[in-house]
Amino acid sequence: MTSETGTLSADQQTATKTGKASTGARILPNYINGRWVATAASALLDVTNPANGEVLARVPLSGVDDIEAAVTAANAALPDWRARAVGERADFIYALREKFRQRIDDLASSITREGGKVLSDARAEVSRSIEVLEVACATPMTMQGRILEGVSRGINTETIRQPVGVCAAITPFNFPAMVPMWFLPFAIVCGNTFVLKPSEQVPLTSELIFHIFEEIGLPPGVVNLVHGAHDAVNGILDSPGIRAVSFVGSVNTARYVYRRAAEKGKRVQALGGAKNYMIVMPDAVVDKTVSNVLGSAFGNAGQRCMAGSVLVTVGSARSAIMPKLKEGAEKLIAGDGRDAKASLGPVISHAACERIHDAIESGLHEGADLLVDGRHPAGVPAGGNFVGPTILDNVKPGMRVAREEVFGPVLSVMHVDTLDDAIALVNSDPRGNGTSIFTENGAAVREYSRRIEVGMVGVNIGVAASPAYFPFSGWKDSFFGDLHVHGWDAVEFYTRKKTVTSRYFSAGETGKFFTEQGDKH
Ligand code: NAD
Repeated sequence: MTSETGTLSADQQTATKTGKASTGARILPNYINGRWVATAASALLDVTNPANGEVLARVPLSGVDDIEAAVTAANAALPDWRARAVGERADFIYALREKFRQRIDDLASSITREGGKVLSDARAEVSRSIEVLEVACATPMTMQGRILEGVSRGINTETIRQPVGVCAAITPFNFPAMVPMWFLPFAIVCGNTFVLKPSEQVPLTSELIFHIFEEIGLPPGVVNLVHGAHDAVNGILDSPGIRAVSFVGSVNTARYVYRRAAEKGKRVQALGGAKNYMIVMPDAVVDKTVSNVLGSAFGNAGQRCMAGSVLVTVGSARSAIMPKLKEGAEKLIAGDGRDAKASLGPVISHAACERIHDAIESGLHEGADLLVDGRHPAGVPAGGNFVGPTILDNVKPGMRVAREEVFGPVLSVMHVDTLDDAIALVNSDPRGNGTSIFTENGAAVREYSRRIEVGMVGVNIGVAASPAYFPFSGWKDSFFGDLHVHGWDAVEFYTRKKTVTSRYFSAGETGKFFTEQGDKH
């Protein structure tokens, strides 16, 4: 999906080349120190509606100077912001939560317009963002430290949590509202200030969110928005003024971000790509399993880090599940995300569409069977990047379609004899984001959950993304770092612990108020 860093990815290169009807489109400003400012960057990319190719805006590829301007503003805002009462900071998050609720339709339609997902998925994304905001409102409780009275005579020791400093996030295209909200609210409520570099493919939803920040009156410099691609990313990774970096995107870029930021002494969490397996046991409840598998594989047109991209049937599950799966997939309709009849929208770009077609062709070339063919979906709008639900059966582990993250509506199906075989198959994958098992057998669930090397496990649930009050993250190549996203890990990531050991003497050796002798009581 992305090149190794330092060069434009295929998607980015295509975007620079399209240029159709883009001359009149608005060039997006950055938001730095409470003002909307133009960047000096000369390179621009078209932001298109993936359902019809309409150019919505042009996004600048900001450089190191823009990042440094944002970091300077964030550093300047830091002393006053961290000195405010935690409850006062939490009030802003509460106000944000109210705004998100009021503007759920605006946010959802922005997500659909620039990202393509169907409106119901877009609304679900905003609801998830609201859930994160609600959890961040509890920070006056969750940020508390610990104290132990009497570690020695008259001496107490306490550990307090203090902000880290300026924090930054670099986010992907597939959840333009939710993923930035995984980080920003927790960072600022803990007393940090923030720089966001959203995906250059979907910058408009971030712009809308920053307008909402303005409406709630966040002080200048507390949150800053810088558009761009790899130059802006490198600016963040190298900036001495940034203390913590969160990244979400594909595996190679996650690994690169982790390495480069850690080398500069920053705290890093870098979430990478995925290949998520769904295991169906012979006793699975067929109809419910099929509807969960279809939702997991084809929801968001397969562009979810938690998308179920490989179905593994165990023993006789194969004959029970496959006919219904085919029937169900053939009923799904690809279309414009704003069309209520559409079950799945377009994929993000023309380049993504081509990459997905290539993956399908490679599977067929290497011997997989085309059970459901979504290569040329009927009735979709002209100019859009559509791929319909596609199922490749009899995929084998070595095939390219099995090794690579397709990130599109393509489900690979494999068949094994035993649960042990399924576990070995999943654990042989270098990634480990999410997985699901479908069965009513508690012993199988226990065994699977215990042995599987994956960060998030669903039982009879297709997309088992952790709710905001639990930590979210994969394992292995799906995650580089230590502290996960949201849940109780958020405060850990966005604070530094300081331990203070203290005692107090009386005002005078014979003082009448406090004396060390008083400790006798
Ligand atoms: P991406 O890696 O192409 O881009 C993510 C971010 O990195 C963007 O902001 C982009 O500007 C920047 N970037 C891209 N290429 C770069 C480069 N060469 N050097 C420096 N920066 C670069 O990812 P994407 O296509 O936007 O998103 C899809 C990917 O994200 C999938 O692999 C998906 O699995 C993954 N993802 C993972 C999670 C998770 O929780 N693990 C969540 C969402 C998405």
